[in-house]
Order: sequence, then C-alpha cells, then structure tokens
Amino acid sequence: MKPLALSVAAVCLISFLSTPVSAQAPKQPDRQVAVTIDDLPAGMADRLPAAEITAMTAKLLGTLRDQKIPVVGFVNEKKLYKPGEVDERIKALQMWLDYGFELGNHTFSHQSLNQVGLKAWEDDVIQGETVTRLLLAQRKMKLRYFRHAYLDTGRDLLTRREAEAFLTERGYRIAPITLDGWDWMFAGVYEEAEKRNDAAMQQQTVKDYLAHHDAIFAYAEQLSLKIVGYEPKQILLLHASQLEADHIGELLDVLRKRGYRFITLEDALGDSAYSLPDTYVGEEGTGWLEHWAITQGKIPQGEPVVPQWLIDRTKELHLSTGTVTAPTPY
Ligand SMILES: [Zn+2]
Repeated sequence: MKPLALSVAAVCLISFLSTPVSAQAPKQPDRQVAVTIDDLPAGMADRLPAAEITAMTAKLLGTLRDQKIPVVGFVNEKKLYKPGEVDERIKALQMWLDYGFELGNHTFSHQSLNQVGLKAWEDDVIQGETVTRLLLAQRKMKLRYFRHAYLDTGRDLLTRREAEAFLTERGYRIAPITLDGWDWMFAGVYEEAEKRNDAAMQQQTVKDYLAHHDAIFAYAEQLSLKIVGYEPKQILLLHASQLEADHIGELLDVLRKRGYRFITLEDALGDSAYSLPDTYVGEEGTGWLEHWAITQGKIPQGEPVVPQWLIDRTKELHLSTGTVTAPTPY
C-alpha cells in the first residue's frame, strides 16, 4: 500500500472509530402489523376430516399464543356443517377463543358481493353470524369485525356504500388488509405435496412462500410511502391452513427482521390511513393500499408475482380456498 493510501485509510479508520455506534447503524423503522387469518375453520375444510382440522388449528394457535401474536380469525360457518362432524368443527372454532384470540365474520359461504348481488350477500352475512356470535357471547365478546370474501367490496360505488351502511348498521367494522402474499396458493400446493409425501416440493413451496412474502412486504412498504406518505400500521392477510400451522413461525421471523412488531387489529385500525378517501370499485377485490392509490388516480406497478410454477401447479390441481367453486380465492 502506498503512503498516501495508507494515510487515507488511517483517517478513515479514525473517523470510523470516533463515530458513535448508534449513529452508524441505520435506524430500524418502527413497523407495526396486525395479523388476520381467513377462511376458518380451514381453507380446505371441504377436503379435511374434522380431526385434521382440530390438529391443524391446535398447532397454528399454539405458535401464535407462544409468541404472543394478537390475531383475529374470520369464519365461514358453512364449513361447520359436515354431517357427523358439526360438534367437532365448532370445537375447532372455539379453540380460537380458548387460546385468547378473536373471531370475525367472513360470510356464511364465502360469497362474493361482486358475484351474488347485494341482497343475497346481505343474507350470507347474516347467516354467517349464528355460531360465531354465540361462541363470542359465552365469553362476553361481541362480533365486531367483517372481512369481505375475495376482498370483493362491490363492483359499483352505490353497491359498495349500501353494503358498508348495512355492515355498520349490524355493528361491524370492516377489516381491510394491506399485506397479502397469496398464502392460500402456496398452502394448496403444500398440502397436496404432503399427501403424496413429496418432501422436495414441500420444501420448495415453503422457501418460495417465505421469499414471496418478504418481497410483498418490501413492495407494500414502498407503496405506502408513495400513497400514504408514511408506513401505516399494516394488516396482514393469511389463511387457516396446514402450511401456516407448520411454518407461520418462520413468516413471523421474516416480519421481525423487517422491524415489525405485532399489534391488535383494533390498534391498527386506529391509524388515520384507514380513513383515507377510498372510492375503489372493481370486478377484482384487492388490498387497501391499492384502493387508496387508485382513488388518487395512481396505478400501482411492480407488485411481485408468485412463481409461475406455483400458478401452473395450482391450475393443474384445481385448487382454491373458500368455496370449492371459487375462481380467485382470498
Ligand atoms: Zn376468504
């Protein structure tokens, strides 16, 4: 090394050493997220025996409770009514409350407001309250959250506003979402691979599920800055599945590495972002960051897409969550 380079290096070293440690490390953002889980008691409830639903629920809730993650689970009560299994399926639902979590309504049969029209959809909302309301009442809790099936909030503004007025009238707060990595798609492929004892495909699915969610979180953080001006308290959408039961702990670690801490849905909804103007309507349901962007006349671009192999596999297997006939599950 030449003397000049050496002295420059020495100066750099001195200035490096004299800088306080706190000023060197980039400040970790104070990120907050509420976790919500849809399609209870299980996304694949039609295909699973009650015993498997119970085991899956216990494993999922065990991790969430151990890590003290507040969660609201959204129920499709139609999935309870399998002959001979009704009691056990209701018990699986009850476990959510026993473990200290909260339940909300996700319609009775996972009907899309955009597909069935306002009146039929309202009936499906009401029918979806029966068991959940009873279970909550036993614990002196109220049924207070609603999540749209497929995130479909109405294909025109009049329908959207009438549906919202109906939900308010029945005592609901709509539960929006801002983080969505399409975990239902990974979950379907994962569960099918497990049935065939295809460990290699399961491992690949988990690896891609974690990487895709990390990319989606980064994208949502950037979009938040552009649209909201800061990163609001985010709301994550997941689905009740064997994949989440087995691997949600790793997903929570992905969030922690990005600086997130876990808050209640109630806390998240206190963020003023959730009062931003929102006139989004459309055939396709989507997240609220997109709602706000489109309301501002901006088209969000560059959203990470799930790997093509996963889309192909999902089509091959005719997989979906919610109702079996569902075209695009949320
Ligand atoms: Zn759903």
